[in-house]
Amino acid sequence: MNILRKLPKIDKIVLNPKFKGLNPTRLAEIAKKTIENLRESILAKKIEDFDDEELLKEIKYSYDKLFEPSLKPLINATGVILHTNMGRSLIAESLLSEASKVITNYSNLEYNQEKGCRGERYEHVSEHLKNLLHVEDVLVVNNNASAVFLILNTFSKNREAIVSRGELVEIGGSFRIPEVMSQSGAILHEVGATNKTKQADYANAINENTAMLMKVHQSNFSIEGFSEDTNYVDIKKLCVEHNLIDYYDLGSGYIPELPYNLGNNEPSLKTILKDNPALISFSGDKLFGSVQAGIIAGKKELIDKLKQNQLLRMLRVDKITLSILEETIKAYLKEDYKSIPTLWMLFQSEESLHVRASIIQKEVGSSSCNVIKSKTVMGGGTLPNREFPTVALHVKGKASTLERAFRKKNIIGRIENDMFLIDFRSILPEFEEQIIDTIKEIIK
Ligand SMILES: *Cc1c(COP(=O)(O)O)cnc(C)c1O
Repeated sequence: MNILRKLPKIDKIVLNPKFKGLNPTRLAEIAKKTIENLRESILAKKIEDFDDEELLKEIKYSYDKLFEPSLKPLINATGVILHTNMGRSLIAESLLSEASKVITNYSNLEYNQEKGCRGERYEHVSEHLKNLLHVEDVLVVNNNASAVFLILNTFSKNREAIVSRGELVEIGGSFRIPEVMSQSGAILHEVGATNKTKQADYANAINENTAMLMKVHQSNFSIEGFSEDTNYVDIKKLCVEHNLIDYYDLGSGYIPELPYNLGNNEPSLKTILKDNPALISFSGDKLFGSVQAGIIAGKKELIDKLKQNQLLRMLRVDKITLSILEETIKAYLKEDYKSIPTLWMLFQSEESLHVRASIIQKEVGSSSCNVIKSKTVMGGGTLPNREFPTVALHVKGKASTLERAFRKKNIIGRIENDMFLIDFRSILPEFEEQIIDTIKEIIK
């Protein structure tokens, strides 16, 4: 039992010059736990002796582990720009640094500086957004799921919302339209068939308890072949006739015309807003390319009602979201798409991707990698099944082994036809140096 007496005292460990600069409270906690474990192992006769130096090293290791970041930057080399698992849209540093002035200071978030009284948090982005979208009014909430919930709860609680059977979608992360509707208190009235819903189906379903006709974008799948859905204009027409609300959950809304004919089956915000919908909603961090938010736009009279719903307080956005969103909207107003990384990546030409990949190939040596042309998708529940061109570096070797090795070094690539690929579509140029170094290190 002599060995137990050899166990160091906690206060002595904390004062050890090796641990200079570390937080003494956390250090004492860790030292106590480590020594307790050691004492138990000795009593259980699992350990006969220990080394002081090793013990100190173990404590230092546990201390460092405590401060390892949980959220950390990764290089998205999958080619999928709106990768939901990796945080969807990126925010440009230039926009963030503008926004940080507001975030790190007191601000006029809810203060009317002109009148010297309480102001409105939502006014800041709403003026810019109205100028961008040319709508009567807008409201920003926590995300698009919140937007859907708030709209249904406000206008369709205990009343029917008519939705096509082809649009009862699951977005992923267990967001299912039917479930969200029932949680919101809205009564779902399904119409049509999975593959076909006609205007008459909506018309026949309207009754005295109907509150709205809702259209939901088929964000992450498409129905091909013998299929038909009803145009928004036709849905809107019925709503005007029967004095109902028309609402379009777009999922993802975008402003500039998309390259590679990607907008063929999915109209831009401008096109949709031409039909003058009563309400639309879309995500801030899908194709719009900003922060997580739900953007609601439409008739002022309806937005006013949404603002009166107590739920809004629970779904409201904070100054971090509002200030970054304001910067994104200003970039849109200036048509400065370079400041919106999601769009910058999407608009890169195949040629420029090829040039970037070739420079890296040259740098690391063509014996270890090839530049190849491939296809990618947008991701994040947008533009379903729409592939568009991309360029990747094929790193030679066993794909699964390479995938793991690069992943360990914070580069998340993609495997295609047994090849490990680093896809340049979703990589910002500032990470090329790091990619070169990592390839060299791994193929060595
Ligand atoms: C993505 C999506 C949502 C959810 O939006 P979040 O911003 O992720 O909350 C809702 N509806 C549709 C149609 C979507 O595509």
